[in-house]
Amino acid sequence: MTDIIIIGAGAAGMFCAAELRRRVPRLGITILEAGRKSLAKVAVTGGGRCNLTNSFEDIRSLREAYPRGERVIKRAMSQFCVRDTLEWFRSRGVALVLQDDHCWFPKSQDAMEIVRTLREAASGAEILLEKKVTGITDNGDCFTVTCGEEEFCADYVVVTAGGLPAGTTMFDPLNLVMEPSVPSLFTFRIDDSVTQLMGLVVGKVTAAIPGTKLRADGPLLITDWGMSGPAILRLSSYAARYLKENGYQAPLSVNWLNVNDEKAHEIIGGIASANPQKMVESVHPDAIPSRLWAYLAGKAGIGGRRWAEIGKTGMNRLCSCLTDDNYRICGRAKFKDEFVTCGGVGLGNIDPFTMEAKKHPGLFFAGEVLDIDAITGGFNLQAAWSTAYCAAKSVARKYGDTSD
Ligand SMILES: Cc1cc2nc3c(=O)[nH]c(=O)nc-3n(C[C@H](O)[C@H](O)[C@H](O)COP(=O)(O)OP(=O)(O)OC[C@H]3O[C@@H](n4cnc5c(N)ncnc54)[C@H](O)[C@@H]3O)c2cc1C
Repeated sequence: MTDIIIIGAGAAGMFCAAELRRRVPRLGITILEAGRKSLAKVAVTGGGRCNLTNSFEDIRSLREAYPRGERVIKRAMSQFCVRDTLEWFRSRGVALVLQDDHCWFPKSQDAMEIVRTLREAASGAEILLEKKVTGITDNGDCFTVTCGEEEFCADYVVVTAGGLPAGTTMFDPLNLVMEPSVPSLFTFRIDDSVTQLMGLVVGKVTAAIPGTKLRADGPLLITDWGMSGPAILRLSSYAARYLKENGYQAPLSVNWLNVNDEKAHEIIGGIASANPQKMVESVHPDAIPSRLWAYLAGKAGIGGRRWAEIGKTGMNRLCSCLTDDNYRICGRAKFKDEFVTCGGVGLGNIDPFTMEAKKHPGLFFAGEVLDIDAITGGFNLQAAWSTAYCAAKSVARKYGDTSD
């Protein structure tokens, strides 16, 4: 019997253990981890550099960053916000840097510095590796956590098991409302000759799924299998459930100029009247790389002509290709740097302030196991820190801790 069992030694689990150690050092904490080491995923976050949070400067509403879980994140961040994350790591000796894209990283550019810091802060908690939890039973006055044949008992349980694979049975005895697990943050497979432009980046586009409100903007990268980059990853996050329902088949519209049709006519009309005798391929808006421009001119059927020759029809077709260029998503490709699961424990099961299960007092949840997930940029780890902080604070309250 121990005071607290934490299920999963990932970002949320280790942060929760560290906070519990800080608040109530005498507590007996056991972390049950299915894998062979703690923080395995954190070690590879941000391409090995760990994008641990975001300044949120570019974010107009929390929903933009958190397509699922905004309400809970709002409450969690009212208790532990970005400033608190920065202070938490800095006060443990981690120097941090803010990139131009609003993402925070350790100055060392080494995710292992974050791993070491969390491990040190959580030291004192017992971590049992290769213990895959298969069941949690609420006994009324305590919990039994089962790992195959083994059983562990504790007064309180914090579940931080991350994105749940389909078919997880751990929660079956608890009768919780679960949201189906669906991948989020992936790139699109597109069978189109545009992939010949692989490696090409366009600074700011809008990518949208026509017929829906699903759209996202940001840089776009053309790859050998289709499209990637922040605009596509964001769109995959907003559209995670829609795309799953549609078998990852959907139309895709790209607005390469990120302006409306009227503005596109103004820009392109200006180029045409200033360069009537020049070939269309030779003059293009700064925002469009020349290889893409030649491809789009060809697609609009005006390649190999002079500006004076394209006429109104050619102009309309070109502007349409620039602002509403149509493709077909025909599958997803796993994004190698960041990949999360949407779905998990439904948010209606928990008190959004304490992270405690409404039907099972003493049982808490934090991190990606909840139906919370975000776009790329450090928002997912911020969710792990904030929700784990709230869970740790709530458990510590049970032991008389009253600190903020
Ligand atoms: C390659 C990659 C790069 C990423 N980069 C970033 C980034 O730079 N910035 C960012 O904000 N987000 C990033 N993310 C997302 C981020 O890593 C996750 O959102 C975050 O780790 C979630 O924390 P967590 O503690 O909830 O889950 P995890 O960190 O996944 O930890 C869950 C732990 O629980 C264990 N576990 C699972 N089931 C059981 C079980 N039944 N019994 C016992 N243990 C169990 C797992 O083994 C794991 O150790 C990235 C994700 C990936 C895959």
